[in-house]
Amino acid sequence: MSSDRIVGIDLGTTNSLVAYMQGESPVVIPGEDGSNLVPSVVALDQNNQPVIGNTARRFLIETPERAVYSIKRLMGRGVEDIQEELKLFPFRLADDLQPGEVLRIKLGGKTFTPPEISALVLRQLKRNAERYFGAPVTKAVITVPAYFNDAQRQATKDAGRIAGLEVLRLVNEPTAASLAYGLDKKQNGIVAVYDLGGGTFDISILRLHDGIFEVIATNGDTHLGGDDIDNLLITIALDDIQGDLGIDVRRNAEIVQAIRKAVIDAKIVLSSQTSIKLDINLPQGKRYQREITREQFEQLIQPIIDRTIGPVRQALKDAGLKPEQIDEVVLVGGSTRIPKVRALVKQLFNREPHTDLNPDEVVALGAAVQANILSGGSTATENMLLLDVTPLSLGIEVAGGVTDKVILRNSTIPASATQFYTTQVDGQANVAIHVLQGERELAKDCRSLARFDLKGVPPMAAGMPRIEVKFLIDANGILHVSAREQRSGKEAEIQVQPSYGLTDEQVESMILDSFDSAEEDFRQRQVIEARNEAGTILTALEKGKKSPAWGKLTTDEKKRIAKLEGALNAVGNEDDYAAIRKAIEALNQATTHLAELMMDSAVSSVLKGKTMDEVDMGEGPMAPHPVAKAEFE
Ligand code: ADP
Ligand code: MG
Repeated sequence: MSSDRIVGIDLGTTNSLVAYMQGESPVVIPGEDGSNLVPSVVALDQNNQPVIGNTARRFLIETPERAVYSIKRLMGRGVEDIQEELKLFPFRLADDLQPGEVLRIKLGGKTFTPPEISALVLRQLKRNAERYFGAPVTKAVITVPAYFNDAQRQATKDAGRIAGLEVLRLVNEPTAASLAYGLDKKQNGIVAVYDLGGGTFDISILRLHDGIFEVIATNGDTHLGGDDIDNLLITIALDDIQGDLGIDVRRNAEIVQAIRKAVIDAKIVLSSQTSIKLDINLPQGKRYQREITREQFEQLIQPIIDRTIGPVRQALKDAGLKPEQIDEVVLVGGSTRIPKVRALVKQLFNREPHTDLNPDEVVALGAAVQANILSGGSTATENMLLLDVTPLSLGIEVAGGVTDKVILRNSTIPASATQFYTTQVDGQANVAIHVLQGERELAKDCRSLARFDLKGVPPMAAGMPRIEVKFLIDANGILHVSAREQRSGKEAEIQVQPSYGLTDEQVESMILDSFDSAEEDFRQRQVIEARNEAGTILTALEKGKKSPAWGKLTTDEKKRIAKLEGALNAVGNEDDYAAIRKAIEALNQATTHLAELMMDSAVSSVLKGKTMDEVDMGEGPMAPHPVAKAEFE
């Protein structure tokens, strides 16, 4: 069996799966317990060992502080983005979170970032596949919702790396579902993918032309799914128990959990039978019994499933299509097993949806198809390119706090676009590039994706520099931004880090920290690299101390630098690479002002006698201004 087999993974909010291509058709790889679905639940047992999936579920009830679920909701997001989720889900954030820092979740006595928690789920899927093949698995295709933004995609890739998987491609879930049905074999058509899972509803409209998929519109509701049905049934049972039997069990976590399990089982049975009897043992020797017919069930859930209608209509409207223009409808998500949901979908599109594949497996199956294409194992679909769209516009902040869009929403990816900008202040040497995502006019209303500076632009009058800003969204939907001043050829040393993403160092330290403690040679490399970097910064500092800029620092600044220099020297030759990196980072920050002063003096010598303070009438001596919209062309 080939060891570089590529697997396809559906990393779901509720359930995750791994699949591979067996001959001509994709199949799901079961876990040791025989189950195809691995619940996306992670817990730490009493020995702080991670437990994943079905076995982790019981921790949710017995020791909820040791378990976490629905972590996908927090991937690539910041504290300010998730207030809604915190109200609805029992996430316990770390106490010492700093603004702008990557989220960490408390689990047992430890804290974990969302990518680390997802990595534990991925690691379980990886193990399942390795057990099944009897060979290592190191490469994967992972699916993400079509609406996932750059930071969320990056966080998913990080999770893969932490789990020891090279993520060859991120594929949008609706695209994967279409692939699983082999819809790519049709030459042209419009596909609607209706995905009702555990906690989210997504509707996507794809256009297929010459075997190429293009996501032309997406919509949905991030708080709608099977969980709502479960909660409704639980509420009804609790009301019944209080009304008919006169006992209030609301505060009895164990009983509530037993009720939850019973109503979910009942819900699932009602997808294939026309009635079910609930029978739950209660305290004081009492019993709750109730017969639910499918008809009653359908009446109860009607308001819930009707909430999918609005998003479907909006997606069609955004795509500029009428329901009759949809050629294929694909059902995704466990909740589309409910006959009433199927009937609604049929009615919305006036067409029979595809139901041959299990709706909760279809995304993973499609990921396996894509993995097979990437491994060159496919013939029919060999040259197939999968095109998706970017769900939100991408742009940069220009003078006055205004958003200037570079790539418009619903653009097909991979995509690239270039725009020209200039400076707004005479002699502006540093130009701030603030990358934004969103449709709003003002930068403050859009989501901040990344910031970087184009430094060392030679002094010119405002409006003279010609700054080329290039946006590229790659096939994974990840954004790369570069800036270049054309007259001088200055380029920014650009590293676009999504605002809530992890740095490469953080990801690598997580790989090291992760539970399969990494190999020694990898650690050695980390140590050597960190030591080299420490040497570089210490040498640069020596040079700085001899420059005239050193004299311009305050005594406090010098003291602080000396202290951190001492600290770096102290750990610089140790084997603790994380400590070296931390000391480097601290010294780097403390010397930022020195570096700016040094650059300042270099520029002022060009301007013969003028200091940047005189030239640049802006905020600070070297405060970078955002770019200004260019008038030339
Ligand atoms: P996600 O994409 O959110 O990870 P899934 O596609 O696995 O989730 O869907 C999980 C949801 O599907 C759960 O709410 C589960 O109760 C529901 N579900 C699974 N099977 C059935 C069924 N036969 N009838 C009704 N609901 C089901
Ligand atoms: Mg799903």
